[in-house]
Amino acid sequence: MNTQKDLGNWIKKITGNYPLMIAGPCSAETEEQVLETAKQMIDKRIHVFRAGVWKPRTRPGNFEGHGEKALPWLKKVKDETGLKIAIEIANAEHAKLALDYDIDILWIGARTSVNPFAVQEIANTIKDTKKIVLIKNPINPDLSLWIGAVERFYQAGVTNLGVIHRGFSNFRPGNYRNDPQWQIALRFKKEYPNIPIILDPSHICGRRDCIYDMSQTALDLKYQGFMIETHINPDEAWSDAKQQVTPTRLKEIIDKLCLRKQQFQDPDAIDKINFYREQINQLDDELIKLLSERMDLAQNIGQLKKTKNVAVLQENRWAEIMNKAIAKGNEFELSKKFIEKIFSAIHQESIDKQEKILKK
Ligand code: PEP
Ligand code: MN
Repeated sequence: MNTQKDLGNWIKKITGNYPLMIAGPCSAETEEQVLETAKQMIDKRIHVFRAGVWKPRTRPGNFEGHGEKALPWLKKVKDETGLKIAIEIANAEHAKLALDYDIDILWIGARTSVNPFAVQEIANTIKDTKKIVLIKNPINPDLSLWIGAVERFYQAGVTNLGVIHRGFSNFRPGNYRNDPQWQIALRFKKEYPNIPIILDPSHICGRRDCIYDMSQTALDLKYQGFMIETHINPDEAWSDAKQQVTPTRLKEIIDKLCLRKQQFQDPDAIDKINFYREQINQLDDELIKLLSERMDLAQNIGQLKKTKNVAVLQENRWAEIMNKAIAKGNEFELSKKFIEKIFSAIHQESIDKQEKILKK
């Protein structure tokens, strides 16, 4: 996808140089709830009101949204507050209704962007629209599937595009409801720097106490905006109660967020950073040379294993290496998680090299 430079210009038109702030309840529950939430949100740093009208629920039996009935409520929000309106659309019928009701921003949910048929159907329905379309990452950590969904809209002539990073499902309960896997979003950003990337910390965290922290990390990684679930009475919300914040709390979070400069400007700091970077470059070269020497030794062992017909995997030796590395890492304040990742990768490369020798 060879994207045009002006794909993300819509964001600047809305916010100037500040991050885009989309906020509002997970679901539009009642007319009063959406209107009251929106009124309490009025602030020049908040630009868009979000609300789910069709709610894709993991298990049946939960509130699935009011559908079309809620669309006039959102029109009222727009008329009374001046906020732009964003809703999720999941099929061609939703897409048509969103256009009929002149909704400003349409987003594709994480359970829809996994499905190329659904994405294509929506892209065909809204083709050539000047509306803003935001594509959430698919629930599974598949960068190509995410890019593919964006491509389907781009090819249908939708040019006001953006993506929303909302984290990825985990099988085991982790720290967060959805694992952020920042590397996937950063790979997206690297490949498509003209497409704005927005963080949805609410669906990543799954709880309200880490929304600020997650959002600051995103700003530090040069994300261009946020979608934060906001409700007048979060504990009573009909969906995603634990992760929603009040409008007051939302404004406190915005107050606390620190916008970083895009680049170093002061010459002294530039000198210092170059000095550190030069040393990092040298250390990286040495790391690679050391890794290569380590692999040479692993290959010698591979030759021996072949001659003596011994299996590649030696669990005891591997456990011994890992335990030693974790203990050493601990001495140097390197986390267990980090050491495990690095050494697992090194071990895998050694195995691959030895396998090659044994199969020769
Ligand atoms: C939502 O934004 O309320 C929602 C359903 O999000 P996601 O598609 O990220 O699960
Ligand atoms: Mn939600």
